[in-house]
Amino acid sequence: MALNEHLQAIYQDIVARNPGEAEFHQAVHEVLDALGPVLVKYPEFSEHKILRRISEPERQLIFRVPWQNDKNQVEINRGFRVQFNSALGPYKGGLRFHPSVYLGIVKFLGFEQIFKNSLTGLPIGGAKGGSDFDPKGKSESEIMRFCQSFMVELWRIIGEHTDVPAGDIGVGTREVGFLFGQYKRLTNKFEAGVITGKGLYYGGSQVRTEATGYGCVYFVNEMLKSRNLDFAGKKVTVSGSGNVAIYTHEKVTEFGGKVIAMSDSNGVIYDEKGINLETIKQFKEVERRRIKDYCDHHKGARYTPNGRIWDIPCDVAFPSATQNEITGRDAKTLVENGCIAVGEGANMPTTPEGAEIFLNAGVLYGPGKAANAGGVATSALEMQQNASRDAWTFEETDKKLQDIMKNIFQACSEAAEEFGSPGNLVKGANIAGFIKVARAMISQGLI
Ligand code: GLU
Repeated sequence: MALNEHLQAIYQDIVARNPGEAEFHQAVHEVLDALGPVLVKYPEFSEHKILRRISEPERQLIFRVPWQNDKNQVEINRGFRVQFNSALGPYKGGLRFHPSVYLGIVKFLGFEQIFKNSLTGLPIGGAKGGSDFDPKGKSESEIMRFCQSFMVELWRIIGEHTDVPAGDIGVGTREVGFLFGQYKRLTNKFEAGVITGKGLYYGGSQVRTEATGYGCVYFVNEMLKSRNLDFAGKKVTVSGSGNVAIYTHEKVTEFGGKVIAMSDSNGVIYDEKGINLETIKQFKEVERRRIKDYCDHHKGARYTPNGRIWDIPCDVAFPSATQNEITGRDAKTLVENGCIAVGEGANMPTTPEGAEIFLNAGVLYGPGKAANAGGVATSALEMQQNASRDAWTFEETDKKLQDIMKNIFQACSEAAEEFGSPGNLVKGANIAGFIKVARAMISQGLI
């Protein structure tokens, strides 16, 4: 995947201006790699320096988050919010609480979010935020105090028409509730549309919890249909066991597939009879336990500490844990074991080497910014409901999600075809997402 001379110069410049941010460089490279033929068709994008502008965030905030643990000791974390692009709507994107978070991670996620949000067809710009706070092992009171302190800085730069955060790794309905409560106290406003992923009792949307996983399965189903295939009888592996993985499992099972393996950061569980979803939900959503205990309840299952989930033969793989979890070696193993489709529930879970192996092997490969866009799309539906003080039914919302995922698949396939890479949904997603944002930027003058 070598860039042409013009794009290479832009890439070098971006790397030099953003030293040490490997994940951000990787995300930029992937987008640039798709754009060669787009710049030929639309020379105005180069005249307006859209690539250099789009890779520079509109605004970035880095802040101290002081809080006290249960022993009354002072702890300090670092908070981030990168408001990347507002050409299509208010900044929109989740917050990630994980010890690996630093500016390079937040920028890669924020950059991806611009194109993902564009693909949804809904009026949302791109942003991301988070902290190097590690929620693992923290009490509920510690989590609440951390969220409150985080919001004491964040509230100044967000708002329903400005910037609308949500969850990501380490931030779910509970954390969104604490963040919203503190925003309400600080502003003296019940501004429901300021954050999405809220609880259903106070402005949350039906299907938001399920949306990323369900949406990813709808997307893969469209890919399978394009080759007259479906999920019936397929063996499926899903990495992770958080919100995305759980609802991927649920929808795959409903579509007739069998999820035989899942994982967490400690290890992998394999159950050839199919992983029991109720047990996983109970462990992860209620008891907040590790999945190794699964085998105590399901005797036929096997737990492998530090295991490699991609070594397990499957027909369809859903990387739904984190970035760069599928290496070149993993992709090669998956292809050799007969994997026919990959749906990325996580953001950028496949390394560039891995992606190339999937594409060369003709695997149906749904990149994250298309396949996992159902989460943020349903967040935008939550914003719509909040703006109209309405609440839709589960069925109505799910139907909208299905239509959105179909449209995204269509848009990516058509763009790939039009710009000379039929079937390459990585290029298709980047092109279709980019063109709309570039046009909107030009229309709005030099911003
Ligand atoms: N964090 C999710 C993503 O990666 C959802 C963002 C949102 O709902 O705003 O797209």
